[in-house]
Order: sequence, then structure tokens, then C-alpha cells
Amino acid sequence: MKVEFNKDEEIVKLIKEGLERNDGFCPCKRLKVPENKCMCKEFREQIKDPNYEGYCHCMLYYKYK
Ligand code: SF4
Repeated sequence: MKVEFNKDEEIVKLIKEGLERNDGFCPCKRLKVPENKCMCKEFREQIKDPNYEGYCHCMLYYKYK
């Protein structure tokens, strides 16, 4: 299992700027609740799932199996 930033640096830059503007909360999610603080609960659960491979919701990270 490996997690890395999206290889598209433009996307990484945009999402990081969004995170900064949003006090560290996911810029792709509506609510500023603890589970939406980056790395969000949704992606942490996808990381734990051995069968999941793909991007986090915002496409900031990519998780390999
Ligand atoms: S891991 Fe991805 S989807 Fe989750 S909060 Fe961070 S940028 Fe958003």
C-alpha cells in the first residue's frame, strides 16, 4: 500500500490553496466538521481498505493497493 500526491502538480497546488483558505478542512466538502479535516475520515477509511485503489474525493492524493 502506498499513498502519494496526485502527479498533476496544478491540481495539488489548487487543492492545497483551497485547504489553506478553508482552515485545513476539505475544500470539496460542504461542512467544516472534524471528519472533514484533511486527511478526511472518508479517505482514511479508503486507505484502510485493501481493495481500494484511487484518488481521494478531491484528487489531492492517490492510494495504490
Ligand atoms: S484527503 Fe482529499 S478528500 Fe479528504 S480532505 Fe484531504 S483533500 Fe479532501
